[in-house]
Formats: sequence, C-alpha cells, structure tokens
Amino acid sequence: MSESTSPDDLFRRIATAQHQLDAGFSHLPPHAEPVLDEAAAAILQQAAERLHDNYPYAHPLYAGQMLKPPHPIARAAYALTMSVNPNNHALDGGRASSAMELEAVAELAKMFGFPQYLGHLSSSGTFANLEALWVAKQLQPGRGIAASDQAHYTHTRIGGVLGLPFVEIPSDATGRMDLDALKQALEKHDIGTVVATLGTTAVGAVDPLDQILKLQQKYKFRIHVDSAYGGYFTLAQNLAPAARAAYDSIPQADSIVVDPHKHGLQPYGCGAVLFRDPSVGQLYKHDSPFTYFSSKELHFGEISLECSRAGASAVALWATQRLLPYTRDGQFARDLSSSHEAALEFNRRLAANPAFVIPNVSPALDIVFWTAAASTPAESSAFAQSIFDKAAENNLYLALATLPARYFPPGTWKATPEAHQETVLCLRSVLMKPEHLHWLDQIWSRLIKAAAA
Ligand SMILES: *Cc1c(COP(=O)(O)O)cnc(C)c1O
Repeated sequence: MSESTSPDDLFRRIATAQHQLDAGFSHLPPHAEPVLDEAAAAILQQAAERLHDNYPYAHPLYAGQMLKPPHPIARAAYALTMSVNPNNHALDGGRASSAMELEAVAELAKMFGFPQYLGHLSSSGTFANLEALWVAKQLQPGRGIAASDQAHYTHTRIGGVLGLPFVEIPSDATGRMDLDALKQALEKHDIGTVVATLGTTAVGAVDPLDQILKLQQKYKFRIHVDSAYGGYFTLAQNLAPAARAAYDSIPQADSIVVDPHKHGLQPYGCGAVLFRDPSVGQLYKHDSPFTYFSSKELHFGEISLECSRAGASAVALWATQRLLPYTRDGQFARDLSSSHEAALEFNRRLAANPAFVIPNVSPALDIVFWTAAASTPAESSAFAQSIFDKAAENNLYLALATLPARYFPPGTWKATPEAHQETVLCLRSVLMKPEHLHWLDQIWSRLIKAAAA
C-alpha cells in the first residue's frame, strides 16, 4: 500500500465500473435524473472549504486518535453502490449486497475461528455491542454485566438502556482486567455476562480472555468479546504471548464485535457482531423456522436489531476483503504486524529519552502512551499538554488521554499518599496506518522538537 491512488485515478476507476453497472439496467427506458449544475458545483466548493477544518487524518503525521483512511477500493465500491443505494434490511431492498454481506461476514467468522455462527454488519461498534448484550439479556434475564474500568463507556450506557446491573472491574497496572477483582465480583454479584475487551480504546490493552475462560467453568457466565478496535490483530504475527493467548481463545467466546470501520479500512458505518450459537436467531421475534438461520435465503432484517442499513457498506467491505484477504501471511496481516512494530519501536525510543516516561508495559497492539518526565503527575500533565500543542504547530498530530498514574512504574513521581488514585495526562499515539513504521523518524524528530520547546 505504499503507492498512493490519486483522486483522478480513483474517480476514473469508479466511472468505468459505473458504466458497467449501468449497462445491466440498459433494457429500461431512459429516465431523467437531477444534474449537478453550476449552483451545485459552487456548493461542493464550499463544502470542500468547510472540510479544511479537520486534522489531516489520512496523513501519516496524523498519529493521534483512532482514524485510518478507508482503502481506495472501499471508497470506490461504496461510491459505485450509491447509484443503487441498496438497503440490507431485506432481500427486496438489496439482493446482491445482502449476498455480499453474507460472504463478508463469513470472512470475519473464519478470521476469528468461529466454526458456526450467526452474524451481520451493523452501523457501528456501539450498536453491535448493544445487540450482543441484548441477546445476553434475553438468555439470562436480570443477570448483570461486568466489564473493566477500561472497557468502552458504551457498556455502562448499554447496561442502562437494557436495565441490567453493571459491575465495573478494576484494571491492573497494565490496563488489563484484574482477574482477582473479577473473581471477587463473581462471588459477590450475579454476573451473567463478562465483557472482555481485546484492544481497549484508550491504551490498546488486551484482557486475558484465556484466563477469564477458566473462571467461566466455576461461575457460569457468558463471554462477550468487545474487539471493536483490536479484533483484526488476531491476524498479526508478532503479538506478545499474553495477547496471543487471549486472541487464540476467541473461538470459545459466545459473541464478538469488530469494527471494520476502525482497522478494516472501511468508511464509517461498518461494525459487525457475531454469535457462536446460530440459534440465538430465534430471539429476534419473527415467524421463520429455525432452519432459516443457516439458509442462504437469510433475511438480515430478521436477525438484526437495526432495520435499514447501507448495502454499500457490505459491498465496500466485500471488495476490500477480495483485494486484501484476511490470511495470516497476506498484506493485510503484514500491515497490522507493522503497526504493532511501529508502536514497539516508538516505545523503545521514548524509553531511551530522559524527557519522557513510559508505562509499565510495552504496547500490546499499536497504541502508545507516555508522558513528560517531571516530579509530580500534575507537572507531567502540564508538560504533556504543551508538547501536544507544540507538536501540532509543527504538523505532528498526537492525542491526549487522562490515565491512572499507577500505569507507570513506582518511583516515576515523588510518592504521595494519594498516588494510587492519581491520574496523569498522557500523550497518546495510535499508529494504525501501515505507513507509520516508515514515518517514525519524521514523527520522532517533530516530537523531540516539541518537547524541547
Ligand atoms: C470504538 C469502540 C467502541 C464503539 O464503537 P463505535 O463504532 O465507535 O460505535 C466500542 N468498544 C471498543 C473497544 C471500541 O474501541
């Protein structure tokens, strides 16, 4: 993915495919469609102007939040499909794109090692998680949900929406769910579902799913894996053993969420949820017989909480998977390994520089966080803020995150009585673009300049 597609190439490819698509409907009498006249062109120019008010998300010097540009093939396939604008709610609204959704979801299931499954795309990770926990609620009415204090905040909200008790499990000093705390919570509360986050949104920590599974034998709960961010890293070849063990346990979870619109090179509007037991399809009230859930005539509206959904999302994902298959030795997997390597290398440089302090553990995935060396967390926080500002002046775009001071080694700051509950403002970099490894020198020199200022 090192050569880049110019807009002209992109739109030429779309135009060619569009003619091909239109030819399939050429038996119909022509009909008038609205044209884009000069007034429309002027408005588009205004829109382009307005859109300057953004960080340059697609550029490798944007190394801040979780933003990865869609692959050109996803843009092209999405744009092409817009002329049909299929609705994957029902086969009547989008036959071809529903078939492509089935195939795209099958690729996700294969990637995770789910031998049988029921699943579909969704508009987002939020909605996919809501659906997984809604199914859990129907199977075990009234039983609570447990997730770590680093789980996405959507889970607390979903607990509220579903009216289920929510139990927050503290994270340990590495940002992973604390197993002893989980065990205590399981003794004390009626927990029906444990949410394991594989790739926390703030720091990319990977909850120990393999260990959580061991507790499941004694305490009997469902396991939902929220890997909206990190799911695709199951393909990476260079994860540390603890993370690898968690990913290798995914086939034993009851449900999983992944967001193709995060690491899967898709435009926003593409999440996915998969259940290991296809019979949960019965919980979505409808009249179809059970055998229906393994049928090729599957009607997505009947196994999805959401109704209308963009068929274009399915076509874009399907096309991207054809170009970059989810194989462990393919380009897509290599790009994920390269993002992880970029994070490790960045972390090594930070460790070697006395201006910075790094956390207890090196990055599990591709998210790096650190702060400025100082005598108190408050001072470190102030420096971090000013490095963030200075870096942006120099076209390096980082992110900020307020994190527990206990994620850093003891002795990082002068000991105070409240040290165990203090927080510190950190700099954070999500190195999710495959180009980031090659841009590390550029990123590093700008960071050093910002820290010196
Ligand atoms: C991003 C994220 C979500 C929310 O997904 P959206 O697609 O933003 O709605 C949930 N959980 C995790 C771990 C995430 O990273």
